[in-house]
Amino acid sequence: MLIADDKMPPDLLYVGGEWRPGRGAEITSIFPADRSLNRVLHGASREDVLEAIDRAEAAQRDPTWRSLKAHERATCLYRIAQGIADNADRIAHIQSRDTGKTLKETKALALSAAGTFRYFAAVLETAEDAMTPARGDYLSISAHEPIGVVAAITPWNSPIASDAQKVAPALAAGNAVLLKPASWSPLVSLELARIVEASGLPKGLLSVLPGSGGVVGDLLVGHPAVGKVSFTGGTEVGRGIARKAADKMMPVSLELGGKSATIVFADADLDVAIAGVLFGIFSSSGQSCIAGSRLLVERAIYDRFVARLVAATGRLVVGHPFDPATQVAPLIHDDHRDSVADYVRIGLEEGATVLTGGAAPRGDVYDQGIYYAPTILAGVSNAARICREEIFGPVLVVMPFDDEAEAIAVANDNDFGLACGIWTRDLLRARRVGGAVKAGTVWVNTYKQFSIATPFGGVKDSGLGREKGRDGLRAYMSQKSWYFDTSERPHPWAASVLGGGA
Ligand code: NAD
Repeated sequence: MLIADDKMPPDLLYVGGEWRPGRGAEITSIFPADRSLNRVLHGASREDVLEAIDRAEAAQRDPTWRSLKAHERATCLYRIAQGIADNADRIAHIQSRDTGKTLKETKALALSAAGTFRYFAAVLETAEDAMTPARGDYLSISAHEPIGVVAAITPWNSPIASDAQKVAPALAAGNAVLLKPASWSPLVSLELARIVEASGLPKGLLSVLPGSGGVVGDLLVGHPAVGKVSFTGGTEVGRGIARKAADKMMPVSLELGGKSATIVFADADLDVAIAGVLFGIFSSSGQSCIAGSRLLVERAIYDRFVARLVAATGRLVVGHPFDPATQVAPLIHDDHRDSVADYVRIGLEEGATVLTGGAAPRGDVYDQGIYYAPTILAGVSNAARICREEIFGPVLVVMPFDDEAEAIAVANDNDFGLACGIWTRDLLRARRVGGAVKAGTVWVNTYKQFSIATPFGGVKDSGLGREKGRDGLRAYMSQKSWYFDTSERPHPWAASVLGGGA
């Protein structure tokens, strides 16, 4: 296979502030729209990872970094933000080639990553420690300091955005960061390293270490010098990381999978609801942790709503990521499409009927790439595997419900708890239902809206901890309490035994 595109980053890793070939296993990045080769990259070896950890420890302890004032550190983050914004088109191109996402989406992700660095620079400059109310003759202060060396492990579905959500607050907090991107999408994280390097961040504070989860990821999680792991990915991998972290008494934040319910009540504005439901499941080709993959529709409007939804789904433009008209782009990898197709087969075995889609589209561009048609399944109960397990593709399951209590019960009858969408004109009902659903985020008459200023995370099997928001900075810091004596007297408990003399 020929390398189809000379804009791809070279076969070099960023290890402790140096660019050099990785000494680990080969990683092959392909363009999902036609399976052409983006790059064969040599991933990080054990030795590369150990060296990156050593350099991270040294760089983080270096007084020139540690003694920087918050506003000086923030300046560096502002430069990274600007660097990302200036290179947004290039980043978008690399990420679209690496993941198959539309250019429109990857450009938005790049700009959101720039916004993330800007936001955490601003949070850093304005973060305050607290002088706590004294209950004795002392001044008591609750202060925050960096953890030290932090590992950031990210998935393949939105790499530049997930990388920024971890790297920006971790650097802002004064840590060194070891970033491990997923093997299906390693390239854009290396481009981020180039921008970070150009910002003047001291060398060693960031390493980018593509490689397998079992080698690079496992080593990072278990290493005694790594003081925190921030992980985004699947629930089973996250659970394994949490177990290992328990042995080290290490904090972790885990952003995991989802099987989010969207609930449409009969009084909803149906045009708004249909557009929102389509966007919630089929944008990013359903490869999104917060995809609204279970749709519950009030029985009174079920037939009418589902008929319109199916018709609208059939009109979605499935196409090439570089075509501005495309709404649904290819999936990331043949193995992933096989897994999506397997779930549809399982659904049929469970008694589901296909209302639309249910196969890879055929002909022209479709035969060259890894496409899967937007699919709607119906006719199963919430107990079916296709309702319980994350498919992570363009597959929606629809079910009717009779009343509010049933909608809440079905939404909650799942191991995940990431998000929920509610469509109704009755805001009191939205408040009641949203309050009863166990999920980290509730959207009312909208879906998949995000703000870096608003915390994000899941409950139950969807994760632990929150990213984003002002407290997102604190997640990468450890808290220290200080007491300064103001009495200038020996402690009364021992004063009687001091005696005189020199
Ligand atoms: P994954 O769990 O397979 O991999 C995620 C990352 O973990 C990759 O970098 C991988 O190499 C690494 N990894 C794998 N095994 C490891 C191990 N033993 N030790 C350390 N690291 C290891 O997930 P994926 O397939 O890349 O991404 C899809 C999943 O991510 C979905 O479940 C999706 O819901 C989830 N996700 C969650 C969020 C969120 O914010 N909640 C966002 C995006 C994706």
